[in-house]
Amino acid sequence: MIRLAGVGKTYADGTVAVQELDLDVAKGELVCLVGPSGCGKSTTLKMINRLIEPTTGTIEIDGRDVTREDPVELRRGIGYVIQQVGLFPHQKIETNVMTVPLLYGESKPTARERAHELMDLVGLDPSTYAGRYPHQLSGGQRQRVGVARALAANPPVLLMDEPFGAVDPVVRVRLQDEFLRLQRDLGKTVVLVTHDIDEAVRMGDRVAVFATGGRLAQYATPMELLAR
Ligand code: ADP
Ligand code: ADP
Repeated sequence: MIRLAGVGKTYADGTVAVQELDLDVAKGELVCLVGPSGCGKSTTLKMINRLIEPTTGTIEIDGRDVTREDPVELRRGIGYVIQQVGLFPHQKIETNVMTVPLLYGESKPTARERAHELMDLVGLDPSTYAGRYPHQLSGGQRQRVGVARALAANPPVLLMDEPFGAVDPVVRVRLQDEFLRLQRDLGKTVVLVTHDIDEAVRMGDRVAVFATGGRLAQYATPMELLAR
């Protein structure tokens, strides 16, 4: 589904963020990118949705070279969830989730209905939370809204950058479990960045271990990693 071949990224200031990266992610698979801070995980994720252009190599989604796709069209098929989900502070939760369907030309009632479905899906009762504002939600709940918004365009691919990083450890484990259940139902292809090896082993069908310098050290299932 997603294939990176010989991908490298050197930033304009000469920083080598990613080198010689080969990675394939099967349809419906959840792959975790893990490794110390600064080893190129976020850069890799952003190259997949073309927020960053690779310096070398090719990236394909469903056999199509992402560098030849219209970025707007490309991102329609890719949900993106980051650590500090940027919700519009002066808009209600339902409006935050409706933005994407509205953008794609849904009518307001349909978009609202979709937003409420998505809120249910991520465990936020719309009858309670639809009319609230982001500051009235806990960190964990805001992350749920972020996931709901990322799912709004029904993208086959989800990219997640430390999606559970900003919440306390107890909430984090609950969100991880819930996301895994959701993922089993939805069957999205997911690439998830984390610096937490426990999270990677717990969540990943496969785990890509990055080493300092932006090289891939290992790419294996959690069982294989634990056996080594
Ligand atoms: P990670 O997600 O693993 O923490 P990043 O992909 O964010 O790593 O960063 C990889 C390397 O690239 C780091 O050395 C970081 O400082 C550097 N880097 C990231 N963004 C930029 C940028 N816009 N310009 C220059 N260097 C950058
Ligand atoms: P979570 O486990 O999802 O992080 P919390 O335990 O932090 O949730 O929050 C518990 C409850 O308190 C939630 O129902 C949430 O809506 C409510 N809450 C948290 N922060 C606020 C706030 N600033 N204003 C109103 N309600 C809040």
